[in-house]
Amino acid sequence: MDTASPANTPNRWLPHRNRGVLIFVALFVALNVAFARLFAPGAPPRVPIAFAPSFLTQVQAGHVSSIATRGDTIVGTFKAAQRYPATGVSTTLFSTEVPVFWNTDQLSALLQAKGVRINAQSTTQTASVPARLLLGFGPTLLIVGLFVLVARRAARSGGLGGLGGFGRSKARRVDPERIPVTFADVAGIDEAKAELTEIVDFLRRPERYGRLGGRMPHGVLLSGAPGTGKTLLARAVAGEARAAFFSISASEFIEAIVGVGASRVRDLFEKAREAKPSIVFIDELDAVGRSRQGQISGGANDEREQTLNQILTEMDGFESAEAVVVLAATNRPEILDSALLRPGRFDRRVAVHAPDRHGRRQILDVHTRSIPLAPSVDLDALAASMPGMVGADLANLANEAALLATRRDHDRVEMIDFTDSLEKIMLGAPRGIVLLPADRERTAYHEAGHALVGMLTPGADPVRKVSIIPRGRALGVTISTPDVDRVSLSRQELDAMISVALGGRAAEEVVYGQISTGAEADIQQLTQIARQMVGRWGMSAAIGPVAVLASDGYGPLLPGASETSEATQELVDTEVRRIIENAHVEVTTLLIEHRDQLDSLANALLMAETLDGIDAYTAAQLPARLPDPCDSPALVT
Ligand code: ADP
Ligand code: MG
Ligand code: ZN
Repeated sequence: MDTASPANTPNRWLPHRNRGVLIFVALFVALNVAFARLFAPGAPPRVPIAFAPSFLTQVQAGHVSSIATRGDTIVGTFKAAQRYPATGVSTTLFSTEVPVFWNTDQLSALLQAKGVRINAQSTTQTASVPARLLLGFGPTLLIVGLFVLVARRAARSGGLGGLGGFGRSKARRVDPERIPVTFADVAGIDEAKAELTEIVDFLRRPERYGRLGGRMPHGVLLSGAPGTGKTLLARAVAGEARAAFFSISASEFIEAIVGVGASRVRDLFEKAREAKPSIVFIDELDAVGRSRQGQISGGANDEREQTLNQILTEMDGFESAEAVVVLAATNRPEILDSALLRPGRFDRRVAVHAPDRHGRRQILDVHTRSIPLAPSVDLDALAASMPGMVGADLANLANEAALLATRRDHDRVEMIDFTDSLEKIMLGAPRGIVLLPADRERTAYHEAGHALVGMLTPGADPVRKVSIIPRGRALGVTISTPDVDRVSLSRQELDAMISVALGGRAAEEVVYGQISTGAEADIQQLTQIARQMVGRWGMSAAIGPVAVLASDGYGPLLPGASETSEATQELVDTEVRRIIENAHVEVTTLLIEHRDQLDSLANALLMAETLDGIDAYTAAQLPARLPDPCDSPALVT
């Protein structure tokens, strides 16, 4: 499977080309008919009459107004419409044949005597000269025009390989001098950076490598969540190494025309080899590199596979000192075809992790370099309050804060600009709707319920913020983040998450005896957690440690995991229900017991609309858990 299969195999082309040809022919015929209609209205019907006596009689009678001759044929017009029984139509137009033995001089004399106009010009109403030209050349022009059009389109999208201008890759080439990015612009992902410095060194001095027999990797795969800085890193490598940089997104290999992907790959690598030292950067590699195993082969897959094969072939063809490095990035390394990861291909893998608190601080430094900051700005505190956020989020925050400060006419960007922007990024912009007092109160109890359960349940993350300002689709929000770096979740923590998510709805039940539609997102969230506990993490005794769900908690299992029976699926549902119902009883009891604290927190929310962690704990008459934020994603309920 690793050898190249020729691109543009004719049979791949055929269906498409046939369709194209059919369309072309249809268009051609239609246009020709249209032309003919427009410019050559068929010669009007003429009544054929006998030369003698009919024609001569009519001339004698002075009924003929004009004639013209074409060879032995005379066509002409009567002064008034004549009706000939043979045809039944009455018309002024006629034609007749002059017998070869006829004395034309005599005829001429007669015509002149009767004052018949003799036209040098044909009496048929033929098309004008330009129209006739068009008629003659029209089809040819049409063909030429269409060819030009098709060729230009194909060239633009990189059509047929082999023909000049076709199959060119769309890779954007950036010259080394034009890459302004260096390692100094990349922060907070030091391990990944360190791994890539060797590549930079290789590109700078390729001749040094291989001296002692070592082989420089030609393929480096950057994997990590979106926005962690993979693309940025690739550009920085090019900038540091002063190497030409060709970048293409793998999805661009695969486009409208079948058979193009492989030829684009070939062309891309050809250009890169000519420009060495150079970097070929293939972004979103998973678009072509998805595992081939267990897939039904079909048009789109074949195409993907050919493209992938061509990439593999090109990478196998590198000589060890050839200063071309292929960098690729993916958000989903787990779905890549194993052939890509074999020695000689992407055998160096660099994981780009979401930055920790310290890393976030450094990234904020990078992105606030050119922003004037007021002394109030505490980047450490900001970094600390953004657990789980990646480089792209931080860049976005810096930009939003600068824009907000501009809008507010601040001389420098102040802390309040940052915190307001952060709130907007995390929660969505306030919606600016006014709630009815009843709805507002219900929302306050809902959020107070989430928050209070979070404060009272062991294993729950400390509450950082509670707000009843409507944003996005939510009427209110409660944010909890953990204290310590968390790499896995315990059973207790998961149970607590379910309880907190149930808290809003349970509070509504306790206070109003009925529930509203406001808990939809909560229910989705807690169901998801419970399903994963049962189906992925073996936390239900009834199922045991058997994976029965895909890693997203839904859908079929990935290849490799065991198939599950319908009975097992039903058992999963029962277990999920049991977990949630148990939690619901507990949470309701808890809120009934602490009703006065619930009331006081809800009232504080109605007054202040937004409460920070400490204020919320105070309002609930509880000792605050000191916020020492770290790096797990926030639970937003
Ligand atoms: P990815 O390719 O991993 O999805 P990008 O490299 O496109 O992420 O990152 C988007 C933007 O976010 C970058 O252009 C940069 O401004 C910012 N960014 C991301 N990670 C970092 C980082 N580690 N250091 C500095 N800026 C970063
Ligand atoms: Mg990217
Ligand atoms: Zn809720």
